Amino acid sequence: MRTETDRRLTTDLTRLRNLGILAHVDAGKTTVTERILYATGTTHKRGEVHDGTTVTDFDSQERDRGITIFAAAVSCDWRGHRVNLIDTPGHVDFADEVERSLRVLDGAIAVFDAVAGVEPQSESVWRQADRYGVPRIAFVNKMDRAGADLDTAVESIRRRLHPAPLVVQLPIGAEDGFRGVVDLLRMRALLWDDGTFQEGPVPRESADEAGRRRRALEETVAGLHAGAMDEYCTRSTLSDGTLASALRDLTRSGDGLVVLCGSAYRNRGIEPLLDAVVSWLPAPVDVPPVRGEYDGTAQERPADPEAPLAALAFKVTATARGRLTYVRIYSGTIEKGDHVWDPVARRGERVGRILRVQADRHAELERAGAGDIVAVIGLKSARPGSTLCAPGSPLVLEPPTSAEPVVSVA
Ligand code: GDP
Repeated sequence: MRTETDRRLTTDLTRLRNLGILAHVDAGKTTVTERILYATGTTHKRGEVHDGTTVTDFDSQERDRGITIFAAAVSCDWRGHRVNLIDTPGHVDFADEVERSLRVLDGAIAVFDAVAGVEPQSESVWRQADRYGVPRIAFVNKMDRAGADLDTAVESIRRRLHPAPLVVQLPIGAEDGFRGVVDLLRMRALLWDDGTFQEGPVPRESADEAGRRRRALEETVAGLHAGAMDEYCTRSTLSDGTLASALRDLTRSGDGLVVLCGSAYRNRGIEPLLDAVVSWLPAPVDVPPVRGEYDGTAQERPADPEAPLAALAFKVTATARGRLTYVRIYSGTIEKGDHVWDPVARRGERVGRILRVQADRHAELERAGAGDIVAVIGLKSARPGSTLCAPGSPLVLEPPTSAEPVVSVA
């Protein structure tokens, strides 16, 4: 039975975020994912990468190799929003999988190492995300490492990835002494102590620097955003509200890149990162309708649970529960027991069970609607890239490629 929260979250599409984490191998994607699951209460035990207990890396091959190989979609809740976290492989050898997971995301966190800055692999994943028009925010991780420097990392982002980084935090303390950040939007200090965090006034020693950076941020934002510019011209300052909504617009249009920082390993900076995700990255209704075609005719489907079904399978895994097919539902609704149509294989499939994957647990659902990402048990032939649609309203979301032959007609 669905709870009230579940009902609200699945019907209010503005409160859904389909989020990916993009990073160079070793930048800390697994640790960030793990800490997000921990901060959202999805897991109650803090996993560590080095002892092989992280939740998203539950495949033994991943543990052995220490890199995230297979994408997994995990759901968590943050301040009344559902965040579906789609794990994107960071290793270039898995470019196809990266591309397919980029298709099903509406936004992403790009994780960087505060010492290394932008590395060649971060650049290639960044370009892929550009191709798919995925709005991003940046998280400069490992602020606790010797040699960590936010400004240098941001400079490498500006030079190599994005001309308009918008730094919304000032670090408090450096390297081993990294204790927290000043939130430049609200001018409040967020300090972490042994994993828990406290909010308070900006420390006296950071006040001047924070003031300077806030003004620089306002100036840059006003230069990029017409609405903010109007307010800036009349008052020569921006209200917190205008600044926040300008940052949302700039993130969604890709004209600016919000940058936050922290140390995932020390569990510092994760809560503001989640706040940034729900405030600035788009919901399924904020992105253009999905496009497909059928019989040479282009079609669009809105993110509407009442519209005909259009879903894309993006990952298939074999588990003890059977074949688990992860799908992104773009429009319509799937219900347990439904018959759906694969227009490329030209065969019907039956939806056995619908699961929401929450880290290492599965919650069973009666139905799932537009915008959501769930796993389905019972599909026999769907493979990554297959479209599932309403039998009477066919469309193909992803044309079949020669590398992935069409499943033969039954
Ligand atoms: P991934 O390859 O991007 O998934 O990176 P991991 O999360 O596996 O992290 C790579 C290594 O960096 C591991 O040894 C982590 O413990 C370490 N690491 C992750 N985050 C931090 C951090 O904030 N500070 C420090 N010092 N090390 C970190």
